[in-house]
Amino acid sequence: MDAAEFRKRGKEMVDYIADYLEKIEKRQVFPDVEPGYLRPLIPDCAPQDPESFEDVFKDIEKIIMPGVTHWHSPYFFAYFPAASSFPALLADMLCGGIGCVGFSWAASPACTELETVMLDWLGKMINLPEEFLAGKDGQGGGVIQGSASEATLISLLAARTKTIRRVQLEKPELTEADIMGRLVAYASDQAHSSVERAALIGGVKMKNVSSDDTFSVCGSALKKVLDEDKASGLIPFFFCATLGTTPCCSFDKLLELGPICNKENIWMHIDAAYAGSAFICPEFRHLLNGVEFADSFNFNPHKWLLVNFDCSAMWVKKRSDLTGAFKLEPLYLQHHHQESGLVTDYRHWQIPLGRRFRSLKLWFVLRMYGVTGLQDHIRKHVRLSHQFEHLVLQDERFEICAEVVLGLVCFRLKVKNSFNRRACNQSLCKRVDCDTESEHQAIINNSTGVSSSHDT
Ligand SMILES: *Cc1c(COP(=O)(O)O)cnc(C)c1O
Repeated sequence: MDAAEFRKRGKEMVDYIADYLEKIEKRQVFPDVEPGYLRPLIPDCAPQDPESFEDVFKDIEKIIMPGVTHWHSPYFFAYFPAASSFPALLADMLCGGIGCVGFSWAASPACTELETVMLDWLGKMINLPEEFLAGKDGQGGGVIQGSASEATLISLLAARTKTIRRVQLEKPELTEADIMGRLVAYASDQAHSSVERAALIGGVKMKNVSSDDTFSVCGSALKKVLDEDKASGLIPFFFCATLGTTPCCSFDKLLELGPICNKENIWMHIDAAYAGSAFICPEFRHLLNGVEFADSFNFNPHKWLLVNFDCSAMWVKKRSDLTGAFKLEPLYLQHHHQESGLVTDYRHWQIPLGRRFRSLKLWFVLRMYGVTGLQDHIRKHVRLSHQFEHLVLQDERFEICAEVVLGLVCFRLKVKNSFNRRACNQSLCKRVDCDTESEHQAIINNSTGVSSSHDT
């Protein structure tokens, strides 16, 4: 394909995508296909000789679309929302076009610097404490990770290294393996499964802290397990607080938990994957109070802020905690400069070496919606969820089972739970293949598709 054909095909592809999104509600949300549907539809191996674009294009409707779950359909109510908008789609095209791999500042200065500045913009939008911003010469700063799961993993690994080094100084007789064996991380019993997974990957113990009757972890619950574990010789090192839990959008009590973590030398990470976008509205910002005690904070603009997957925004107070934990400088990657402010080698902040120019998506979206446009978007969804809550409350067969704070409404039939579970399995969970009850509860989450974003 030469540039002339690319121009032509590119325009056709944009038209195809615009048509797809404009008429998405006409498509069946969940496809009628059985596992293995695709293999018989395409050849056993790659073609020996080149095919035309027309041939490839024809197969989109024939082979791909029949097996697509349409996340941006207004009838999609599964899992959590996936954000999308036309400005973000255009930025992603440009990202592919530039095609740089921005692992270090020198590998593409714009890729690194725009990301740092966009994370500062976003941090200011949610009123993050100054320490989390990079500014001109800050020691904190933000980074775009692929997912909240990676952000949690990275912070757990950094906390692990930091704690091992500290304990080795205090007790030189302990080996790294001795310390590893005693480390223990904590999260709410309502936390996302990715937190437990981070501990599995990180090779450390993880314990659930019981949430209270509002599904929130409070200070006394954490204090209790910490005291028990310290008494039995374990080393608590990491607590992942959740703001906006996946099962019911509850909020851990940061103002109680933060001071305990700080006092006990426990790294506090905050996972606000879904709820974080709402903090751009002053009326929801109080939910983030206590972030000043955290070491790291993360939320997903790709869930609720009109930026297409993948864009997970993570901030740390001390970038040296990350770079100190993961820095390797082979000869072919060495540049000599001091890290601070805009001078950043993001490869030290993440697991892979390579990284895409993802901040373009944020830049386009933040500029083309503006803060007020994005606030309108959030407020509309919260309004809709309260409207739905109101309808549920008017029907005496149903009850609301967790406070409705943002866009998630948890409700059930006023009968035994086993019946609710059966009803759920028969209706939705089977069809969308939910494997946990929490995913069922997220079903009534507002979809944030393009279709709902361009009518604001
Ligand atoms: C959605 C969600 C996650 C997982 O997000 P990914 O970006 O897909 O890893 C983690 N934690 C919470 C609270 C979530 O809502």
